[in-house]
Amino acid sequence: MSASAGIAALPKKRRMATQGLAAARKRVTVLGATGSIGLNTLDLIGRHPDLFSVDALTAHRNVAELASLARQHRARLAVIADPDLYADLKVALSGTDIEVAAGPEALVAAACGPAEFVMAGIVGAAGLAPTLAAVRRGADVGLANKECLVCAGDIVMRDVRRFGGALLPVDSEHNAIFQVFDRDRAATVERIILTASGGPFLNMPREAMADVTPDQAVAHPNWSMGAKISVDSATMMNKGLEMIEAWHLFPVQHHQIDVLVHPQSVIHSMVEYVDGSTLAQLGSPDMRTPIASCLAWPERIAAPSQKLDLAAMGQLTFEAPDPVRFPALRLARAAMEAGKGTPTVLNAANEVTVAAFLAGRIGFLRIAGIVETALDRIDAGAPDTIDAIMALDAETRVRTTELLG
Ligand code: NAD
Ligand code: MG
Repeated sequence: MSASAGIAALPKKRRMATQGLAAARKRVTVLGATGSIGLNTLDLIGRHPDLFSVDALTAHRNVAELASLARQHRARLAVIADPDLYADLKVALSGTDIEVAAGPEALVAAACGPAEFVMAGIVGAAGLAPTLAAVRRGADVGLANKECLVCAGDIVMRDVRRFGGALLPVDSEHNAIFQVFDRDRAATVERIILTASGGPFLNMPREAMADVTPDQAVAHPNWSMGAKISVDSATMMNKGLEMIEAWHLFPVQHHQIDVLVHPQSVIHSMVEYVDGSTLAQLGSPDMRTPIASCLAWPERIAAPSQKLDLAAMGQLTFEAPDPVRFPALRLARAAMEAGKGTPTVLNAANEVTVAAFLAGRIGFLRIAGIVETALDRIDAGAPDTIDAIMALDAETRVRTTELLG
């Protein structure tokens, strides 16, 4: 199957419809409002009350913060994913006219509300159903939740094309590529180059990695992010997931996707053209820049991210990734090339092992080791419906949990 033409097929009508951003306030739903992406999104919305209003907000279990955000942003609807917390949220929002709901169906209902823009900020495959629901009603979707593309990218991209909304990449690398990729001349693109900070263990010998703690792994040198993606950055599985994400988002072949370690996280990614021109997007490592770019697309809005002072910074450095110390990159590339159900297995096995590492059940080096064993042992098949993908995801979680021992 050829690389998807999702970004190349961005609907022209949307470019027109979003022109004159201030004409009508854009309603925004934030899936995963209490997370790092969600809070950064709400920070920007709060700075532009003339441009945006909040429709629905969702969270997994943090009732107090969800209620506080819903009050502050005058949300229409607040949804807590854990159904057991419905009564708590109801109490926390008593005395307001904010609707309250709970459970997985309510997450999907939140995505199906009237918002023109849905921020997909849930972490993991748990975000797939509501993200897909937003895509299927033709909403513009800001996609932070890379796992849903890794897990079910063919279906998500097919439905983006079918239902006509725009899929705007929030992930900083993909947002950078999106900004410099010449969609009308995709054939002139030779390579896309995803930059990687290398995470907190970039220069650590492999033997020493055996003993790192969850606290060390989540202490990212440049970015402040949720725990799961921070561990993924430390193993560099994050860059592996991002290669697969890029393959779905941009019309390129597997061999045209490269990874370059750039510890300062200033160049967020690059597109190389046949004539030798390489275009890059730069900025300080603050997710409010790519989020602002998606919220306002195709316009731009002010964001409070620190402007670059390259003279003060002095130098930017680059190196090739080390495939021996970071085997996750190799696993992800192989999964991308194998396609079909393999990326679904990669993603689910990684989610389970990262959670086990964060819980102190396994050491850091076992994350990639167990993912590799799961990929070897589980028959990924060729799931072509969401139900089949979710069944493979569930089976992988059970089998990977067994492998934890
Ligand atoms: P986070 O852990 O800070 O927040 C996750 C959000 O999802 C929270 O609101 C949480 O309540 C919700 N959530 C978690 N599990 C859920 C479940 N089972 N059901 C429903 N809701 C659930 O994570 P984050 O760092 O904001 O990352 C969110 C997504 O964005 C991830 O896919 C990540 O890879 C991607 N991303 C994040 C950053 C970043 O800077 N944080 C950058 C690029 C991409
Ligand atoms: Mg990224």
